[in-house]
Amino acid sequence: MKIAIAGAGAMGSRIGLMLHAAGNQVILIDTWPAHIAAIREKGLLANLNGQEAVAHLPIYSPTELPADLQVDLIVALTKSMQLDQMFQMIQSLIHPTTYVLSLLNGLGHEDTLEKYVPKENIIFGTTTWTAGLKGPGYAELTGTGAIEMENIEPSGKEFTLKVVDVFKKAKLNPVYSDNVRYSIWKKACINGTLNGLCTILDCNVGELGNLTVTKDLITAIVSEFATVSQQEGIHLDQASVIAAIEATYDPETQGRHYPSMYQDLIKSQRKTEIDYINGAVWRKGQRLEIPTPYCAFLTELIHGKEQLLNAK
Ligand code: NAD
Repeated sequence: MKIAIAGAGAMGSRIGLMLHAAGNQVILIDTWPAHIAAIREKGLLANLNGQEAVAHLPIYSPTELPADLQVDLIVALTKSMQLDQMFQMIQSLIHPTTYVLSLLNGLGHEDTLEKYVPKENIIFGTTTWTAGLKGPGYAELTGTGAIEMENIEPSGKEFTLKVVDVFKKAKLNPVYSDNVRYSIWKKACINGTLNGLCTILDCNVGELGNLTVTKDLITAIVSEFATVSQQEGIHLDQASVIAAIEATYDPETQGRHYPSMYQDLIKSQRKTEIDYINGAVWRKGQRLEIPTPYCAFLTELIHGKEQLLNAK
């Protein structure tokens, strides 16, 4: 399959590298000049579970895409706040037969993608794979994961099943889901507790789990996600979401982990995806006249922290 990765950062590098290794024609699209230059010079380098790997993939900035370039699938893997601008810039790549698979974390991306892509060509997904960038052109890819995906319109099912097959051959452990929106909301809810709280409290997940205030905070945030998602027809099982959050506290498993928002903001002074996690619930709640004070407060605190740290 001919596949473009729109947003070839940590996760885009992982998915691109694994799809390329399985024999697909992969091109990368990115906006970070140093990353583009490094990949052009040395290829995309990665530490893949302890093995050094390199993939010589074409990489373009959105402004230099060849006019006649066509792909079967675009995998969207920008950060949430970069998605709109990316799709605005790559419109020449979107033809009536081009499908788009979003694997971003967060909520509300359908509103952005539907501005540029026919609804029947949109596939939504969520993933438990992880990835990091050690620097421009060099990805750190450890562990394993899986992907769930589902077309948003019934007519997209046939192509989505083909994508599942292609991803299976690339050992990305995909499954076709018949309720991907539930999984997306559940992941957003888990991120909506651990990410913002660890970032503001300056702690890892295990330390958060040890605080006497955490149970109340988590319960209140999960309840806001559940009340708002209910209005979109997603019935989040609050007890199972809380259990999934609490399972991350164990220092022997994920407890020593600092969530991605912490790493982006505190370690790298990069802006966060908060507006697409707690911020999205706050905005949806305002439209529905559902109060979401914890999500609103956490969103504003994170924005305050971004300003204090001069995050870019
Ligand atoms: P990323 O920050 O690595 O990459 C996103 C974009 O930012 C890319 O265009 C990249 O080139 C650019 N970028 C990265 N570092 C930069 C720097 N220092 N300076 C300038 N530009 C830089 O993002 P990601 O982790 O790949 O996440 C993409 C999406 O996937 C997000 O929605 C994220 O929440 C989701 N996701 C990430 C992981 C993970 O483990 N990284 C796991 C699951 C889902």
